[in-house]
Amino acid sequence: MKTSIIGYPRIGCLRELKFASEKYFRGEITAAELEKTAKEIRSYNLNLQKNSGLDFIPSNDFSFYDGILDTAFLLNAVPERYTSLGLSALDTYFAAARGYQGDKGDVKALAMKKWYNTNYHYMVAEIDDSTEIKLNGTKPFDLFKEALDAGVKTKPVVIGAFTFLKLARYKGTKKAADFVKETAKAYSDLLKKFAELGAEWIQFDEPSLVKDLTAEDIKLFTDLYKAILADKGSVKVIAQTYFGDVRDCYRELCGLDFDGIGLDFYEGKKSLELVEKNGFPKGKVLFAGVVNGKNIWRNNYAKTLNILNTLKKSASEIVISTSCSLLHVPCTLANETKLAENVKKHFSYAEEKLGELAELKTIVSSAAPENTEEFKKNAALHAETREGSNQAVKDKVAALTEKDFVRLPAFAEREKIQKDRFKLPLFPTTTIGSFPQTAEVKSARKQFRNGELSAENYEKFIEQKIAECVALQEEIGLDVLVHGEFERNDMVEYFGECLDGYIFTEKAWVQSYGTRCVKPPVVWGDISRAKPMTVRWSVYAQSLTKKPMKGMLTGPVTILNWSFPREDITLKESAFQIALAIREEVLDLEANGISIIQVDEAALREKLPLRKSDWKEDYLDWAIPAFRYVHSGVKPETQIHTHMCYSEFADIIKEIDDMDADVITFEASRSDLTILDVLKENNFRTEVGPGVYDIHSPRVPSKEEIIEAVRKMKERIPAEKLWINPDCGLKTRGNAETVPSLKNLVAAALEVRK
Ligand code: GLN
Ligand code: ZN
Repeated sequence: MKTSIIGYPRIGCLRELKFASEKYFRGEITAAELEKTAKEIRSYNLNLQKNSGLDFIPSNDFSFYDGILDTAFLLNAVPERYTSLGLSALDTYFAAARGYQGDKGDVKALAMKKWYNTNYHYMVAEIDDSTEIKLNGTKPFDLFKEALDAGVKTKPVVIGAFTFLKLARYKGTKKAADFVKETAKAYSDLLKKFAELGAEWIQFDEPSLVKDLTAEDIKLFTDLYKAILADKGSVKVIAQTYFGDVRDCYRELCGLDFDGIGLDFYEGKKSLELVEKNGFPKGKVLFAGVVNGKNIWRNNYAKTLNILNTLKKSASEIVISTSCSLLHVPCTLANETKLAENVKKHFSYAEEKLGELAELKTIVSSAAPENTEEFKKNAALHAETREGSNQAVKDKVAALTEKDFVRLPAFAEREKIQKDRFKLPLFPTTTIGSFPQTAEVKSARKQFRNGELSAENYEKFIEQKIAECVALQEEIGLDVLVHGEFERNDMVEYFGECLDGYIFTEKAWVQSYGTRCVKPPVVWGDISRAKPMTVRWSVYAQSLTKKPMKGMLTGPVTILNWSFPREDITLKESAFQIALAIREEVLDLEANGISIIQVDEAALREKLPLRKSDWKEDYLDWAIPAFRYVHSGVKPETQIHTHMCYSEFADIIKEIDDMDADVITFEASRSDLTILDVLKENNFRTEVGPGVYDIHSPRVPSKEEIIEAVRKMKERIPAEKLWINPDCGLKTRGNAETVPSLKNLVAAALEVRK
């Protein structure tokens, strides 16, 4: 059996691409210097993969920002508002990715969306009636040649036609089906070009196939590939799926003229059953995703061997592969200098997963797989019991009953009590929590961590930042204030550090979007609150102002979703353990005089199973109760806010209302405002703050723009339920744009009130 991976992290082990790109954005380095860094990363990855013995080495998995955006440029599906700016190719690309405000014009970025059930985000391609899809770029070819020059014939990976068309946003009257012919032509041209260049295998990523598919979807898929594969020439094509199983189209997938089919045996609940029941087409190669590309635990070779042995009965040629691209795990354990050996030996990042693939190859090619050293060592590792168990926590979770999830009195009564208490103006203004994390703040945190700044001085520094932030908000005239979150590196890691049962890494960065990375903590044992986490800062901030100061916490579902979760207990069990800890903090804040508490569930929507039939049972049935448990113990006059990134929750609107928060803020500025209609139709009970401007872009929104956004909101949402706020935390922004933006926001609110 050969080995393959679907893609590799491209940000660089030490986030070299991030830092170079950001320097480029600031005008500190040239495009050529940025390209040099990119090339070094590619070449490093290539050598690493080659030396690991990997058989199918991907190319074109590199991107300066995002793979869908790359594909939009490759297929000529780029809105004119970017191409007409008259910028260089690279800057046009970045304008679409990040927006552009300068002497050549003023345009917003393309919308950004979560990539399936991951914490990665892609740029949404826009297609309108005048879009002419055709092959119009050279990046995949250039990168293939680059690797070839370095002596490696790679497997180019490109987002597949079906997934591309499914994920695009259609601005005009034409829909995906209207673009079949020209899209198929573009992909055929791509195959031809690769054939000329001597490519042997090409991987088309088609994760959209693991979603619920309609008859129309299946027709779109088959129409596209009948045409694309009709004259594919000498190259062999892999249909690569991941993040689930292909139960709706297995037959069609097998029936098309693909040479390889990639299936996910990790998240694909039914993948094995599909192959066993239906067989696997003769003459095709099965790329078996058996090494989890989304988590950091060592592969269990015994389990993997079982899967491979089962598959062998149906498929004559199997390639051992990862379940998805390794983009979703950190690069290498080599940079983790502080992890204890007995912890580290359970971990496997991208580089170590290459090692696992190599070991699996050795194991399966041995006459007695179970007797190989590699197998035995792995079996011994998995037989060990992990420390970190906490019986008291387990007992508490086991004892939870229905009434623990209900906050009393009911919403309407609380709303009245809170209006009386806070006496806020109509359209109260607030922010989502964090203020710009300036270089000064980051460097102080770093000094503190390195022991160069004493705890006392660090705390003084944070207090000073909080005081400045409170003064600034008062000057701007916001109604509900925040302390600014200067003490936090990250909204999940910060809490993880205050919780027992979590483990931290130094360099386990994973790309979230563009140049943004996250460093998810690891759920290692049972979770409990080691100490108060935020009380000290919130209480200090409140002491500086008469206005309400929002306490700021991250909710259990988000903490879990943005961590690397355990695989030895259920997600539900972990979520409830974390909920227990956050609830303690909520009650502690309340007891210390904090009257409004925001519990962010930024990532609630993100882990919703991809198939609707799995939503309730696999997810919502524990995620919503976990949130409710966090706040069910507070007094009626305490106001609970929550915040969610992205407004893509039309389909779970009832469940969102059912979280029973008093106020919810969410992103709405970049997506169309259809969510507002949905709120109206569903008589949404919770007060809402749909973000009035996009904080992911450095643009400063004008007062008029914000008034216009509020006007639209007002048409659908009763004025007394409406809040005015940016669409997310401000930590990634600078003060230069934040201050004028917030001033415009407050000015807009004042005018709308009049
Ligand atoms: N309170 C967090 C902040 O303001 C929320 C961030 C988020 O939604 N991702 O940074
Ligand atoms: Zn957000």
